[in-house]
Amino acid sequence: MKEKVFITREIPKVGIELLKKYFQVEVNKLNRDLTQFELLRKLKGVSAVVSMLSNRFDREFIRKLEGLKVISNYAVGYNNIDVSAATENGIIVTNTPGVLTDATADLTFALLLAAARRIPEGDRFVRAGKFKGWSPLLMLGYDVAGKTIGIVGAGRIGTAVAARAKGFAMKILYYSRKRSEVIEELGGRFVTLNKLLVSSDFISLNVPLNDGTRGMIGRREISLMKKSSILVNTARGEVVDEEALIESLSKNKIAAAGLDVYASEPKVNPKFMKLKNVVLAPHVGSGTYETRNKMAELAARNVIAALKGKHPPSVVNPEVMLKKKI
Ligand code: NAP
Repeated sequence: MKEKVFITREIPKVGIELLKKYFQVEVNKLNRDLTQFELLRKLKGVSAVVSMLSNRFDREFIRKLEGLKVISNYAVGYNNIDVSAATENGIIVTNTPGVLTDATADLTFALLLAAARRIPEGDRFVRAGKFKGWSPLLMLGYDVAGKTIGIVGAGRIGTAVAARAKGFAMKILYYSRKRSEVIEELGGRFVTLNKLLVSSDFISLNVPLNDGTRGMIGRREISLMKKSSILVNTARGEVVDEEALIESLSKNKIAAAGLDVYASEPKVNPKFMKLKNVVLAPHVGSGTYETRNKMAELAARNVIAALKGKHPPSVVNPEVMLKKKI
């Protein structure tokens, strides 16, 4: 009898087909997330779940799971999973790092440029028939070349953002838990968070959501930023105090923002919709055909390895493997 794997949303075929070679696979074909109640029912008798960042695996939910051996998150971030509760219950947690780094860094730059050059606003203007020809003061934005970018979180994506910034002839500052040789080789300078906020023209958030980063950019931090600065968040919405950001944007205390992530997804604070100086993307940092295929393959390979007693390519809680003597 083949072990059962449940996939909580339809992912690219390559991952599903790979899993089908070894396991009995069921995919949630509804075009929405399951409720916690529905998910719990689906996970009965299942050995591994391929989960999305919108599936909440908190302690209480994990305690109810019987026989589940693997949570293979289809994301690099795993703030939707209580990893210590999973570890205590002997559940292996895996994620999809690396394969989405470039796509997310590209989107960071897409938002940075879109906010600096007011691309969505210009698009709406042209579509509304308001464009009456070239004009010397029409929809002016901000230069990017030669400006200073402050990168918060010097990991895989932060480093890829730094590489792109170098290509745009930007000066690079960064703040992280530890120094990054690679960013320094790209010309980046390690500074305190305060210094970064005070000195940067563009600020890119690239930290994971954890106890140290939740609310990291609050009212005080935003008040340190330049009036002409642009904040880009492709990390997690909860890293920023959204009310403080909305207030600063509406009073033009900072110039603009580019956001891919929101504190209460799928809800987006309606006050953002009323602001001209914010570019809103629907959490698509890793959203390219190529990257989503790679994520699907990696998520599948993580499940296959874990259920076959091998070390998965990207395991979040290796201590479970040790306990299981894998
Ligand atoms: P990563 O390689 O782990 O990089 C995260 C960096 O942040 C590391 O340098 C880490 O330092 C640093 N950091 C962690 N906690 C910190 C804290 N409290 N203070 C300062 N620095 C801290 O992760 P990644 O692959 O670059 O991904 C980063 C995040 O991007 C993910 O966790 C996810 O939330 C988000 N993401 C979003 C999308 C999207 O669709 N918008 C797509 C992919 C990823 P250490 O090295 O000390 O841990």
